Amino acid sequence: EVVERMQRQLQVLLDDTTRIAVSAGVEATQFTQTLQLHRSQLLQSAPVELLQSIVADLVADAERMRSTTTELAEQLEGSVREVRKLTEQLERAQQEALLDPLTGLLNRRGFERRLEGHPYDGQLQGGALLIADIDRFKSINDTHGHVLGDKVIRSVAQTLCSSIKGRDVAARLGGEEFAAYLPQTSLKGAAALAEQIRAAVASGRIRRGDEQLGAVTLSIGVATARAGESLEHLIARADAAMYAAKAAGRNRVSFADPES
Ligand code: GH3
Ligand code: MG
Ligand code: MG
Repeated sequence: EVVERMQRQLQVLLDDTTRIAVSAGVEATQFTQTLQLHRSQLLQSAPVELLQSIVADLVADAERMRSTTTELAEQLEGSVREVRKLTEQLERAQQEALLDPLTGLLNRRGFERRLEGHPYDGQLQGGALLIADIDRFKSINDTHGHVLGDKVIRSVAQTLCSSIKGRDVAARLGGEEFAAYLPQTSLKGAAALAEQIRAAVASGRIRRGDEQLGAVTLSIGVATARAGESLEHLIARADAAMYAAKAAGRNRVSFADPES
C-alpha cells in the first residue's frame, strides 16, 4: 500500500518537474533568440538611439529571465525536498516490512534477509539455530483470550531478546514460533542457552488483573549449521528437533540429528 501510494506521488512529482524543465528550456531558447537578434543589430554600427533602445530591451529581457529562473529554481527546490521526503518514507516502509509489529523482533523475511546479508553472507556454518514454540498456546488463547495471548507472545519475545547478545539474531517466525541464530556457537553452547531460555520462560508468571496464568512453557529445537547448508534446511532440521521436544512431552530442549 505504502509503495503504491509513493509510486503515485512520485508520478505527480515527475510530471511537475518535467513541466518545470520544459518551461525552463522554452524560456532559455526565447532569451537566446533575443540575444542573437540584438547581437546582429549591434554588428551593423547602429545609431545611438537604436543602441539606447537595444540596451533597454536587453535590461528588460535579462530581468524577465532572472525572475523566471528564480521561480523555476524555487519550484525545483520544492521538488528536491519532496523527493527526499518520499525517499525517507520508502526507507522507513522497507525497514518496517522486515519487523514484526507485535514484538518488534525481525519477522521471517527480516530474519532471512539478515542472515543472507553482511556479516553472514549466507555462511551459517559454525553457528547454531534455536527454534522455540510456545506449548499449548491455543488453549491459552481459548481460556484467557487473544489479548492475553498477545501479551504472552510479547513476554516470550522479551525473554528471548534479553537472553541473546552481540551478533545473535532473534526473530518471530510467525504465530507463537521464534528463532534465534547464534554465530560461532557449538552445540554445547547453544544447548546451554536453549535450556536457560526454557527455564526463564517456565519460571516467569504473567498476570492480567487478578487473573494468574499457569506456567507458559516452550519446546525448543537446536541444530548446528553444516558447511554450505541453506537457512531453509537448517530451519527445517531445528524445527524437526522442536517437534521431537513436543512429542517427548513439551517444556524441553531437543537436538537435531547431525545426519538428518
Ligand atoms: P503445541 O504445544 O503443539 O505447539 O500446541 P499449540 O496450541 O501451541 O499449537 P497450535 O498450532 O495448535 O496453535 C497455535 C495457536 O496460536 C493458534 C493461533 O490461533 C494462535 N496464534 C497465532 N498467532 C497469534 C497471535 O499473533 N496472537 C495470538 N493471541 N494468537 C496467535
Ligand atoms: Mg505451539
Ligand atoms: Mg506453532
